[in-house]
Amino acid sequence: MQSLQLPPKSEILFSAVTMEGMVQIVRHHDLIPVPVDLDLRSLAPKLEALEHAITPRTKMIVVAHLFGSRFPLDPILDVARKNNLILVEDCAQAYVGPDDTGDPRADVSLFSFGPVKTATALGGALLRVRDSKVRDQMRSLQAGYPVQTAWSYPVIKVAIIKGLSTRPIYSCFLWLCRAIGCDYDRIANRSTLCYRGPDFVRRIRRQPAAPLLAVLQRQLRRFTPRTVAARTAKGALLRELLGDQIDCPGRGQTQHSRWLFPVLVDDPDRWIDALRRRGFDATRGGSLCVVGPPAERSDLAPVEARDLLSRVFFLPCYPEITDAALHRLAGVFHVGTAPLPSCAHVNRPKLRVAQP
Ligand SMILES: *Cc1c(COP(=O)(O)O)cnc(C)c1O
Repeated sequence: MQSLQLPPKSEILFSAVTMEGMVQIVRHHDLIPVPVDLDLRSLAPKLEALEHAITPRTKMIVVAHLFGSRFPLDPILDVARKNNLILVEDCAQAYVGPDDTGDPRADVSLFSFGPVKTATALGGALLRVRDSKVRDQMRSLQAGYPVQTAWSYPVIKVAIIKGLSTRPIYSCFLWLCRAIGCDYDRIANRSTLCYRGPDFVRRIRRQPAAPLLAVLQRQLRRFTPRTVAARTAKGALLRELLGDQIDCPGRGQTQHSRWLFPVLVDDPDRWIDALRRRGFDATRGGSLCVVGPPAERSDLAPVEARDLLSRVFFLPCYPEITDAALHRLAGVFHVGTAPLPSCAHVNRPKLRVAQP
């Protein structure tokens, strides 16, 4: 944004579900974020919403590939070219390995190596920028930033999270949280989110510390495609076991590496509770947000994106989970095959599939 020097109040289109920080950066530069509603089947921005949102002040479109899925950029590229817009693709959730450098036709492709991402380096990012002039400017701006202190590199915090995630310790942690009545989903999500305070922009204007670069280099060199392949296979199995009755956002997308396994239901909290009681740790997540429309443009309200975030939750599905566990997990959703535990304050969720 600093390199581009767009006129103040220029409009930046966002596929309507993104990371809060992305919108914050745009606002910081006195630019106006404008949402483009999503199609929940493909998780891509809707073309008609995109065309409708464009004004003479629109300069850029930022699209996020969500949950490990990828939608083809072609139709969006056409619109971007026709209207002279810069196209940025956010591949933070869709990364599948060092050969993945994004769509070469996009002006910018963004990859994150933050704490919960595939091939995490506990922080840092890689950017592919097509325009060499912009890229050079970005490099020289970054060269003027202070170097992140090795101290602020969150090794200790991640070690604690990692330690917590071993089974016996995590069980104790859950028990303790229940005993004192706090919401461990919130704690877990908060602890993995970085940089949200008022000095957000100052804190992201850093050059990476040497330990971060070393870890990132190691992650890229030793990347094992097998892990992503295993994750994709487990995801495909779970998708098949759940059947058509359970609605998954992005279900129409063939390219899906299953970074997360999202499902849409009417009452996510009740489902999460029911799953926890059977030993499955599902979560609502917490870091995504819906981009709101600017004042006077309520016609751009991203209805489907809001619906997505109010009804989505995430099932545990990862390379190490056994097929038997996935069968049991899917069974929880199928009344008749595996009844939910009865319990005074948890009503048995209906086996009803959400409307897209
Ligand atoms: C993780 C993520 C980012 C960037 O997060 P950092 O932790 O700051 O690297 C951006 N967009 C999306 C969609 C993400 O999931």
